Amino acid sequence: MTIETPTKNQELLQEFTAAQREAAFKSLSPDMIAHLREIGTVTREASGTWLYEAGMGAYDFYVVVSGMVHIIDQGDQGDGIIGRVGSNAFIGELGLLMGQAPFLSAKVVEDAELIRLTGDEMRAVINSVPEIGDVIVAAFAARRELLMKSATANLTIMGPEGEPSVVRALEYVSRNRIPHRWLDTRQAEGAALADRLSLDPAQMNVVLRGDQVVKRPDNPGIAYALGIPLDVADGTSVDLTVIGAGPGGIAAAVYGASEGLNTLVIENTAIGGQVGTSSRIENYMGFPTGISGTDLAYRGQIQAIKFGARFASPRTARSVEQTEDGWNIKLCNGNDICTRSIVVATGVQYRRMPLPRLEEFERAGVYYAATELEARFCANTEAVVIGGGNSAGQAAMYLSRHAKHVHVCIRRDGLAATMSDYLLKRLESDPRITVHTLTEVTALHGDKMLSGVTLTHKENGDTHVDTKALFIMIGAAPNTDWLGDKCKLDDKGFILTGEAAGGSTPFATSCSGIYAIGDVRSGSVKRVASSVGEGSVVVSAVHGYLAGLEA
Ligand SMILES: Cc1cc2nc3c(=O)[nH]c(=O)nc-3n(C[C@H](O)[C@H](O)[C@H](O)COP(=O)(O)OP(=O)(O)OC[C@H]3O[C@@H](n4cnc5c(N)ncnc54)[C@H](O)[C@@H]3O)c2cc1C
Repeated sequence: MTIETPTKNQELLQEFTAAQREAAFKSLSPDMIAHLREIGTVTREASGTWLYEAGMGAYDFYVVVSGMVHIIDQGDQGDGIIGRVGSNAFIGELGLLMGQAPFLSAKVVEDAELIRLTGDEMRAVINSVPEIGDVIVAAFAARRELLMKSATANLTIMGPEGEPSVVRALEYVSRNRIPHRWLDTRQAEGAALADRLSLDPAQMNVVLRGDQVVKRPDNPGIAYALGIPLDVADGTSVDLTVIGAGPGGIAAAVYGASEGLNTLVIENTAIGGQVGTSSRIENYMGFPTGISGTDLAYRGQIQAIKFGARFASPRTARSVEQTEDGWNIKLCNGNDICTRSIVVATGVQYRRMPLPRLEEFERAGVYYAATELEARFCANTEAVVIGGGNSAGQAAMYLSRHAKHVHVCIRRDGLAATMSDYLLKRLESDPRITVHTLTEVTALHGDKMLSGVTLTHKENGDTHVDTKALFIMIGAAPNTDWLGDKCKLDDKGFILTGEAAGGSTPFATSCSGIYAIGDVRSGSVKRVASSVGEGSVVVSAVHGYLAGLEA
């Protein structure tokens, strides 16, 4: 073993499968090292040299030929050694592939001979030498998993449970797989750090590397502070822009980039779209025991990046305008993207309910997703789920393992018409779940945080449920407002494609060069597999369109 892991991480490693452990710490063979030596620069660094420090800009990829390098997590408790990298091993994790600033620091602790490759050189090797690419990409992905579990002190989200901005920040970092830890400022450790840094414990703040405070940042502010590149330079010009990084958009990016298109993905919330809000997808082919939505999306994103696709997130597409050369996309920060073609994959979002005080409790007890993050807020409380579709069913099953009890409320008299049979049977046979038919949630109660809801049965009247967690999973609305009247929409706001839009190919919209796929498309089957399928095949139509422009 050429990478040693200190005790804390060795404990964490027990949670990893043997395959993940092997992938994370695999060494390069002598042939691979010889190949990298030809491409990179050989350097000798003395003990005490920092190769890079967390938060600095772009950094390089290093193979350790001899000597020893420590990987260090810098936090408020001082420097923690995350790994010791010796001969024939390499340094780096996923951020290197994604162009992110490092989350950890690397310091030479025994005089070392190293092979250094720039990010571009490393990406070129990954794409041109699959044997080396497989080892590096698998290691980077597995190391990110380890980092996510090890709650690195490099990024600390501070603030009390139930504060909406804390939940918002945690949603952002969890769904984008940014290593972090959360210190609840009502608990001793969080309160002590807030006191030492003179921070208001009632507010959300971010602390980097133990002492650098960013006060009440929004999500782009967190990304900036971490050195995560959000910005595509103003006037950037690409072949294909994919708007939305749900499963459909990610698939389009994988196929676009792998088939030679200069591909950019714009995502306004988190990579994965709706799938990132699901704890387990059980009907996606190839995963007989299911896969978490974030895992599926994450794998796709790595694949797309490996082929050269770029992701800008969180960034919102605000409008599109036709130009002489194609289309101009205006982003929320005012920047413009010039693109020759567009795949719209902006999906749908849950409808908000016309419930009194709803806004007051959003992220303070009212949630629109049921993942590991929200499950944390269900400990010691009953949970209420509104909705009768598969997403509500999955949420109920998942939450029943975390909450004291789960109540599913539906207006209809049964679930058979709206939920898959396998889920329905599981719900009915689970003693931790009660399905309330002919029932609506009609009132929310609490002071700052949700503490209870009123359920109103059509015939039997009102009952009260004490709960700190209400999940709203009803009727999805298409994300098409930003398109204005550019493309033809159906009467519910979904984008018309193919014949219905006067298009020559199935996913062509009424605007030439703009395609729509996945849940946002009128008539689409609202499933992961169908979105992925549409995202994969649309690229051949894009190629045909671009070839036509050049002819
Ligand atoms: C809880 C839950 C469980 C589910 N379980 C299953 C299941 O088990 N099996 C199954 O097959 N399907 C399941 N689904 C449905 C499945 O997730 C969707 O069909 C699928 O995600 C649709 O993919 P998409 O790429 O078309 O859109 P989405 O997943 O909706 O992604 C769209 C993306 O576009 C982004 N976006 C929107 N507007 C903009 C803009 N203006 N600029 C930039 N970005 C924008 C959004 O933030 C989002 O990330 C589930 C859905 C949910 C919510």
